[in-house]
Amino acid sequence: MADVHVRIGEYRKSYHTDSACPHLNGKQKTYGGQETMPEARAQEMGLTSCRSCKR
Ligand SMILES: [Zn+2]
Repeated sequence: MADVHVRIGEYRKSYHTDSACPHLNGKQKTYGGQETMPEARAQEMGLTSCRSCKR
């Protein structure tokens, strides 16, 4: 299973397959960085797949 990218900080509700996704890097005021984890782990945390990312 592929690793996905997750935003650190607020607005952390989805995970991204594209590390350059604007939803992952946007809202700089609350942006705390990003981390990479297996997709299964992100789903365990209740995160959903980002609709903007190309899969
Ligand atoms: Zn995305």
